[in-house]
Amino acid sequence: DAWLLRNQQIAIFQPKLQTSLKDKAQLEEDLHKALESNSFDVFYQAKVDSKGQIVGAEALARWFHPTRGLISPADFIPIAEETGLIIELGKIVLTKVCKQLQLWFEKGIKIPVAVNLSARQLINQNLQDDILNLLHQHRLPNELLELEVTETLLLENLDAALPILNAFHRNGIKVSIDDFGTGYSSLAYLKSLPLNTLKIDKSFIKELPNNENDKAIVEAIAYIAKALGLSTIAEGVETKAQLNFLQSLNVCCFQGFYFYKPLPVEAFEDVMNQQITHEYID
Ligand code: C2E
Ligand code: MG
Ligand code: MG
Ligand code: MG
Repeated sequence: DAWLLRNQQIAIFQPKLQTSLKDKAQLEEDLHKALESNSFDVFYQAKVDSKGQIVGAEALARWFHPTRGLISPADFIPIAEETGLIIELGKIVLTKVCKQLQLWFEKGIKIPVAVNLSARQLINQNLQDDILNLLHQHRLPNELLELEVTETLLLENLDAALPILNAFHRNGIKVSIDDFGTGYSSLAYLKSLPLNTLKIDKSFIKELPNNENDKAIVEAIAYIAKALGLSTIAEGVETKAQLNFLQSLNVCCFQGFYFYKPLPVEAFEDVMNQQITHEYID
């Protein structure tokens, strides 16, 4: 813990996915077509509290490719970023989520949904207006939409991002730092930015509770978050043993296959309905 606090830095590298150039050019062309033909959908993955009750969800983009089948966002988001198509794709995801939130809200289901933002979206000065307009058009309380940004993305674009983050904060839209611990993070920024939650990256969760280094890192993150008044959520929770360790720390919420996978909207609704009959959601 002390090491992290003294150096104010955590830098951990993850191997990037390799796609061949030819593959990439083809995917790029397909991506253009997919945006025109509405081939994207949004899956929802539940976030649960320590009792296993659903407290929110994350929206995850899915691309149904005509010949390749379902393509992972890990493969198409980077291409969408490079080509600028992410702006359009981002709008599609935000719009779909707001439509869904409205349907749920009208049925009395008030479940906050988090949308992932990419760098290009975050430096676009229209972002705050676009989002606030979407919420207004769908007659939604702002609190129902949350946003997730990665720390590297945020720090590399801080000048542009700061006024946008401030606007979200003023308007009651919560922002989480996604994949926390994997970027070049300066802990100093955490106290000065209007953030709500740290999402502990799944690479630190994977080998819990056996890996001593990961245990120390996760403990340190939970400690820092508490000290700075931020909440924490662990992503990629797959086993009971991981959950037990995390529950012994100041970790509020969990997300992972141990609880729920990202699900198509109908399947996610089934899961929520089961909880509603157990008198959970107010
Ligand atoms: P992320 O935001 O960190 O999302 C978590 C990823 O971990 C998701 O992968 C999710 O399916 C996966 N995951 C959840 N639980 C578990 C688990 O228990 N074990 C394991 N091994 N994995 C788990 P997915 O859906 O493939 O998305 C990958 C990344 O793509 C996301 O990482 C996010 O950065 C990006 N992404 C997804 N949708 C969007 C979007 O609409 N816009 C933007 N800009 N990025 C998106
Ligand atoms: Mg995320
Ligand atoms: Mg993440
Ligand atoms: Mg990730």
